[in-house]
Amino acid sequence: MDEFNLEKYRNYKQSLEKSINIVNNSSDVDKRLRGARNGVKTLEKMKPYIKKGEITLDQDVDEAIHNFKNVNDEIITEYLDENYSDIVEQDLNEKTDEDFFQDLKNLLTDTCYYRLLSFDRSKIQAFDEKIETVFKAISLPSLSKPAFSLLREFKFQGNPDDYTNSERWQDVLPDPEYTVKFFSEGDLIRPLTQIETIDLNLTKVEIQDVLRTHNKPVSGLKDELIKRALNIDENIFNDKLKEESIYKCTEKGLKLVKIFENYQQKLQKKVKEEILSQLENRQFRSCLELRKKFEDEKVFPSPPGMGTWSTFISSTLEQLQLIFSKRPTILKEISDDNLEKLRLGAGFLAIWGESKPDKDLISRELECKFDFDVACRMLLFHASHIQDLTRYEESNVVRKVEIIASNDSCDNCKKIDGKKFEIDKVPELPYPNCTCELGCRCTIAAVNVN
Ligand SMILES: [Zn+2]
Repeated sequence: MDEFNLEKYRNYKQSLEKSINIVNNSSDVDKRLRGARNGVKTLEKMKPYIKKGEITLDQDVDEAIHNFKNVNDEIITEYLDENYSDIVEQDLNEKTDEDFFQDLKNLLTDTCYYRLLSFDRSKIQAFDEKIETVFKAISLPSLSKPAFSLLREFKFQGNPDDYTNSERWQDVLPDPEYTVKFFSEGDLIRPLTQIETIDLNLTKVEIQDVLRTHNKPVSGLKDELIKRALNIDENIFNDKLKEESIYKCTEKGLKLVKIFENYQQKLQKKVKEEILSQLENRQFRSCLELRKKFEDEKVFPSPPGMGTWSTFISSTLEQLQLIFSKRPTILKEISDDNLEKLRLGAGFLAIWGESKPDKDLISRELECKFDFDVACRMLLFHASHIQDLTRYEESNVVRKVEIIASNDSCDNCKKIDGKKFEIDKVPELPYPNCTCELGCRCTIAAVNVN
């Protein structure tokens, strides 16, 4: 073994030992899982060297990987069993109070989250089946997410016809018509009352007009006006109402919708935490894999932005490399500690496509002239700017670009607004001289040579 490989070997060995130690001794389920998955990652990195005979392992590497994956999935099933076998085995007719709904929420979140983290999903599926019984017992057709999503469509109001005849829903639910019927018979949705229907179809002014023609007072809340008019004649609005039946969730239905929404929020939070820890370790590809897995769990998954997953992943990978390696001049005075926080924040923006990193995810204390969100955006803009320029350069078609400032840009940005530059002479963006409180928002656009 030469010196280079020896050093590598020591690092790998150390990392493996750390993983085994965490898996065996930590009491925190998430830490143990991270240990197991890091074990898999380390072994996969070692594998090519082992195959070439450059370093050795005291057991077969594929077997070792398999073992770590097994341990990972065992930790998950153990955790679920320990925490939830109570729920799935108790007398469900007795349990429809708040506590039960809370337990159910946690159960949903945890199963779905750990499903994302398992290597062999079939192990978790066994647990899914147990949960299925719970849902049957509380008269929900199945735990299926499409069913929940459809129920949520009736949170405010919805026309069942829009869903029963929709190809989109037929693709994800075996029988949307049956599901809607089930909702209605199971007291999860109900038709709008007469007053609600009128409220939905007519404006306050239109109702006042009707009252005026009958010489009735027109002051009061919309509800009161509707009742006043109905007192004149039960059918007074009939010719003004559309002929459609609109439904909305009952209180019981809303409760389930809330469970579903909380579960999605909680799941999202957990995935974001996992992504953050991968970002800290610069495991950019893992971050994007988790992002995709999270999206795939949705009923109607779609990649962030306009393109496909593969374009999103390759472009975001590039962006992350830039965010974590470049420091724009506009942030030159910031300390290394703060820069790391901003990089995590900006990385998050790139991966998640939101305009602000979550408040409770990354510490936002910053000694900087910008606030945290603005500074993160400056890092992200800088990365995109470099990406754009590189693309133009490679295209060999674009030779000049024009700077475009925004309407409320500072005087310094206004000075370069509309100016054209050769690709290799474009000033750095965000513009280092920018004094905008919101940060520099200058962008570039290709100039047509003709
Ligand atoms: Zn500016």
